[in-house]
Amino acid sequence: MLDGLMIGWAIKNAIENTNRSLASVATERLETEGERLRRDFGHLALATEGIWLLLKEHYGFTDEQLAAKIREVDLRDGHIDGHPPQSGIAHCKQCGRALMKGAPRCVYCGTENTLAPFPA
Ligand SMILES: [Zn+2]
Repeated sequence: MLDGLMIGWAIKNAIENTNRSLASVATERLETEGERLRRDFGHLALATEGIWLLLKEHYGFTDEQLAAKIREVDLRDGHIDGHPPQSGIAHCKQCGRALMKGAPRCVYCGTENTLAPFPA
């Protein structure tokens, strides 16, 4: 009887220790991923601002034009939500059907489409 209790206690402790270790590893991975995302976001923000300043200074674009273009891109999926379209699927400009990934020619109607340089 006592041996059974001891074995049960040992198993319970082992499970708890394993769960704590797994949670610790998961937390460390999330922190590492979060740090990488923050660093990538910082680089992207710097590059975006640099590109925008070049466009303003050299081509005379305005902040209002940028805001309108951002809205246009945001609206590509039919929703103003502050995020680019998530589908990643390009559609034929002629028939509206989905294009094969990376293939500009529509397999349904044969129309040659221009693929976006920044696929959604
Ligand atoms: Zn088509």
